[in-house]
Amino acid sequence: MRQIDGYTKTCGLIGNPVEHTMSPVIHNTLAQREGRNLVYVPLRVEKGGLKAAVEGAYALNMFGLNVTVPYKSEVIDSLTGIDEMAQKIGAVNTLVRTETGFRGYNTDMMGLYRAMCSENIVIEGEDIIILGAGGAARAVAYMCAIKGAGSVYLLNRTLHKAELVASEVNQVLGVDIIKPMKIADYDKLPGEKKYLAIQATSVGLYPDVEDAVITDKDFYEKIHTGFDLIYKPANTKFMMLVKEAGGQAFHGLKMLLYQGVIAYELWNNITVEEEDALLVYGKMKEAMGIEE
Ligand code: NDP
Repeated sequence: MRQIDGYTKTCGLIGNPVEHTMSPVIHNTLAQREGRNLVYVPLRVEKGGLKAAVEGAYALNMFGLNVTVPYKSEVIDSLTGIDEMAQKIGAVNTLVRTETGFRGYNTDMMGLYRAMCSENIVIEGEDIIILGAGGAARAVAYMCAIKGAGSVYLLNRTLHKAELVASEVNQVLGVDIIKPMKIADYDKLPGEKKYLAIQATSVGLYPDVEDAVITDKDFYEKIHTGFDLIYKPANTKFMMLVKEAGGQAFHGLKMLLYQGVIAYELWNNITVEEEDALLVYGKMKEAMGIEE
């Protein structure tokens, strides 16, 4: 890392917990690669301390912030501006410094899209299954609708949450493509066609690596591509089941990479070259002990 001096710009991640984050690898590698005088540090914010943390970061001349669990929605109240799409999604993961305060963006959604593009996964016109209806699934549903998916089946354990997300996305975007279903009804998915399935539940996350939200092999016969938002482990049970049924499967580390790359681009008003993004990806895989 280059020498820290009086000109060093500071960025950071606020959330709780933040100890296991990969974001410093992304931003510090990019800064080092570019010879930019910037450091990125994780900052744990205790419950009740969010407003003071955002105001304090601004007063301390911090250059930009990422926001993670559990503050992605709550942070909106502490902003002086918000990007239209982040406002619609109702979640912010990136704060950009302006003259009057921080402006909020959501780079998770575009990060997922960029990750999918880099794997040649097509959204436009595709019939898609989203598993889950939490914060991440909501951003995925917006992304699918905005990028012109065909039909999107949103399957969740708690049906009313899937109904809420579906009606909200359809209404906000003026479409009628998100269809809520109970996850237990997966055998009612229409037709003979095969789907792109995006796994956005927390089931299968380390240490519960033997779990998948659907274990019935018949379901996986319907999937040509499975994308799991989880990246720890790097080969989830969901991914294994997709591959066993003949589909291709991806983990969520590239989504994490690109949400960070897009934040870095917003802070520095630049475009990160793909070669540099892939260099960072290599470091992230190394840090996680992923070999493929
Ligand atoms: P939330 O807590 O908001 O949502 C959790 C979802 O999982 C809900 O749909 C919930 O269903 C479902 N779920 C939890 N337990 C079960 C269970 N036992 N059976 C069935 N469904 C279950 O989490 P997030 O949306 O924030 O995150 C979801 C996943 O995405 C996490 O694993 C996270 O690590 C990953 N993620 C990855 C990112 C990346 O950059 N790669 C970025 C963001 C998230 P119900 O509504 O019924 O409770």
